[in-house]
Amino acid sequence: MHESTASSLLANLKQYWGYPGFRPLQREAMSLVMSDRDSLVVLPTGGGKSLCYQVPAISRDGMALIVSPLISLMKDQVDSLHSVGVSAACINSMQTAQNKRDVAGQIRRHELKLLYIAPERLLQPQTIEFLQGAGVSFIAIDEAHCISQWGHDFRPEYRQLRCLKTAFPGAAVHGYTATATEQVRKDIVEQLGIADVEILVGSFDRPNLQYRVERRTDPIGQLQRILQRHKGESGIVYCISRKNVDSTSDSLNRLGFKTLPYHAGMSDEGRRKNQDAFIDEDVNIIVATVAFGMGIDKSNVRFVIHAEMPRSLENYQQESGRAGRDGLEAECCLLYAAKDADTWEYLMKDTEDPAVRQTGQRAVSAMQQYCVSTRCRHQQLVEHFGQTLQHENCGACDFCLNEMQPVEDPSILGQKLLSCVVRQGERFGAAYTTQVLRGSKGKRIIENGHDKLSTWGLLKDEPEPQVRNWFDQLLSQGFLRQVGEYNCLEVTPLGRQLLKGQATPMLLRMQVADSAQPVEDQWEGVDRNLFDELRGMRNRLAVQKQVPPYIIFSDATLRDLARQRPSNVGVLTRIHGIGTQKQKEFGAVVLHTIKEWCHAHNVAMNIETPSPVLARSAGKSRSSQPRESTSGEYYDLFEQGLSLEDVANQLDRALDTVSKYLGEYLKAHQISDIDAWITPKLQKLVQQAISKVGCERLKPIFEHLESQVDYARIRIVVIAWEIEQSNVADDE
Ligand code: ADP
Ligand code: ZN
Repeated sequence: MHESTASSLLANLKQYWGYPGFRPLQREAMSLVMSDRDSLVVLPTGGGKSLCYQVPAISRDGMALIVSPLISLMKDQVDSLHSVGVSAACINSMQTAQNKRDVAGQIRRHELKLLYIAPERLLQPQTIEFLQGAGVSFIAIDEAHCISQWGHDFRPEYRQLRCLKTAFPGAAVHGYTATATEQVRKDIVEQLGIADVEILVGSFDRPNLQYRVERRTDPIGQLQRILQRHKGESGIVYCISRKNVDSTSDSLNRLGFKTLPYHAGMSDEGRRKNQDAFIDEDVNIIVATVAFGMGIDKSNVRFVIHAEMPRSLENYQQESGRAGRDGLEAECCLLYAAKDADTWEYLMKDTEDPAVRQTGQRAVSAMQQYCVSTRCRHQQLVEHFGQTLQHENCGACDFCLNEMQPVEDPSILGQKLLSCVVRQGERFGAAYTTQVLRGSKGKRIIENGHDKLSTWGLLKDEPEPQVRNWFDQLLSQGFLRQVGEYNCLEVTPLGRQLLKGQATPMLLRMQVADSAQPVEDQWEGVDRNLFDELRGMRNRLAVQKQVPPYIIFSDATLRDLARQRPSNVGVLTRIHGIGTQKQKEFGAVVLHTIKEWCHAHNVAMNIETPSPVLARSAGKSRSSQPRESTSGEYYDLFEQGLSLEDVANQLDRALDTVSKYLGEYLKAHQISDIDAWITPKLQKLVQQAISKVGCERLKPIFEHLESQVDYARIRIVVIAWEIEQSNVADDE
């Protein structure tokens, strides 16, 4: 690509979207559009596919034609283009006649840079004829996998898109999809008739998503624990059946969560209402079947929970991938039980084509394997799509976060589990054997005389889900297999070796899910209270403008605002996601909101911290080290007696973060003399406040002091005061 083309793309990216650089492969993908080279671009959800054709569309003459399968997707994209000041429109069956005439007028007058259109609409002869004279610059096919019957979302009308090559001989065709299998990829190229095509395939890893798997033992309780980690955040809970959607939504509502259901059994109207409530953030949680999600571009979905196992890894990648499109951290949890596979089996029973059924069954067992395996989840997901991860520790799955600890003596434990299977004559399943090992006096166990076995009660101190899970682990590692209609456990030759002490399994202990820590990295330096304030502002603007809140500003933009707290337009333009149009339209209200808040709370403005979001988009690789490892750096500087501000500057961290480390440092060394960091006068002020309102929480102190002292300093004084108190108590 010419230097000049590259820099005009980059200039447009910055001017319209307020983004400082390209995501991986975007530059290459855009360059193919600029040079009229047919292409197929495969990037995961959230990879930034839309920009791959939107930026070139405004950087070229003429109007780009975008084929898109869903009206809601089109509308969302057009709204979002308008919000950054690009002229775009869509043609679909839901429009009024007047509306259609308006759009036709815009096309005739060459006013549009992008036109979104549904395939069935585009393929009408009069539409093609009309558009042939409209100066089409290129054709982009969004969700290109819809053309393939091997994909997860086949749409027959996509099949006819093959005629585009003949209808618009001068325009290159570009397909975009997140579906990565080789088979689908080949099919897309073939069906579109673009044989000489450049194919770009990105990394399928989504490093900002935390993956976890739990065996489902107490569905609602487990859901509740996960949801508690995401108070006030948007997310999706997927169930297999409509019935479970309704009952799960009801149960969660009874527990005080606010959820709405979504499934194909509801009326169109009811579904639309619930979907809109989710998009507009009137409700945070939607409980849904897979019918939900395809038309959802909401970028700030912070969690996706599968309350039941999805039907394939491809589906899982797609559905869980709806979390964290904005590149910020998000959590994907999967709750599974053995019977989920049977449910899918049952749902596939009417599939006539044996080849399709077999593919379906294989997909279910691959999914099952993922659930019970004891390896990095990210690694497994990308492997399924023929890729591998560079780093060994992804730092973002239950396995790599050490939420599953290796047991101390896996051989002995494995032998206990296997010998129980052997003593029972290999005629019982995992659930039953678990009961025996846990010393159950169940009727069947007594009848079978299994309470007399030497293995009875051998693991009576272990929780049931844990023992059951160890059987899964042994199964997935080939020490056991399941046979017959009742899935009886049978020891394999490898299992025999284990019994003889000639082989060792890898057995992990699962920890309770609420110990799971959400990744905090991308909140670094963000004032959470200001973030909430800005979120309120965003909602008000969204109602005014009648677009979803995430189209006004992404979460990443709000965090960056609450981190840097700009006081003027100069700083505002450096914020992630604020281009010319947004600055013109919302700059004044944003600056006003921030200024008011910062003054009221005595918080500094114009803090120049590099945002973690920007760092990531610039392709910085993630460190696999936990963040605690940097505390040494802080401690060294504290030892030198550097002020809070100096440490913050030197380490490029927010004051608040530095004060937390200083707090830890003081506690670790039992230091109560903090004159080096806080003036005696300020200490006295805070101590007086403590004597009035106590020191359990910082907020009352902050309020008592009428915001004269910032939270960072209050925290330090409180900690020093507590250390002082405990020293006094020790002396007495
Ligand atoms: P996809 O269609 O691949 O799922 P999108 O095009 O919807 O992804 O992009 C996901 C999010 O990432 C959007 O909010 C988009 O604005 C943002 N984004 C895309 N490209 C960039 C970039 N170069 N820098 C920062 N954010 C980006
Ligand atoms: Zn991992």
